[in-house]
Amino acid sequence: MKPRILIVEDEESIIKGLCDVFVFNGYDVDTALDGKTGLKKALSGDYHLLILDIMLPDVDGLTICNEVRNKDRSQPIIMLTAKGDEEDIITGLKYGADDYIPKPFSVRELLARVEAVLRRSPKIIHETETICFNNLVIDPQNLILKMHGNKIELTRREVTILNYLIKFNQRPVTRQELLKEVWGYTADGIDTRTVDIHMAKLRKKIEDDPQNPKIIVTIRGEGYKMAPKD
Ligand code: CA
Repeated sequence: MKPRILIVEDEESIIKGLCDVFVFNGYDVDTALDGKTGLKKALSGDYHLLILDIMLPDVDGLTICNEVRNKDRSQPIIMLTAKGDEEDIITGLKYGADDYIPKPFSVRELLARVEAVLRRSPKIIHETETICFNNLVIDPQNLILKMHGNKIELTRREVTILNYLIKFNQRPVTRQELLKEVWGYTADGIDTRTVDIHMAKLRKKIEDDPQNPKIIVTIRGEGYKMAPKD
């Protein structure tokens, strides 16, 4: 699977240069030219790595970094900072950016940093093979779930959740376990509602009656489990 990168940068010449280099080096690249669009895309959870410029129209890169981090601690983020602006660098790192590159930067250096950050990232899905379980056929590369002849679009996070539940389908999976294994949260006391919200969205997509789920069932007091074959 190609690593998927989002670049949020308002200078079109930089975007173009970066796109060329990343695509040439085997990455799948998406872009946003303003902060508002960037934030929306960044929060989708569909990217292996985010590259965020700090100075952007609408919403700045630090705000995007902070919002993403509040939702997802494991999302790899690299900030592009104006040269010598230490304040931005400190704030970026405080907000949880994995790395920063001062402008003007060499593309080769950025590429090397991206590779390093991705190597450290535990959450990259390497599976490219189709996952089959009961009536579900999941294509992790194209983020498509096929079920009863229907094609349903999934987010990368949803594919990872389903993949994890299917892998351990013999037992219930707790919300804490999902937070740790799918989101990469390691601290205790993290709000497990994140899992509930994602699960509700996923069920809405795949269950006939999301209030009465038959595919991903809730085991009271234990967690979630894929329903066995009927
Ligand atoms: Ca800028």
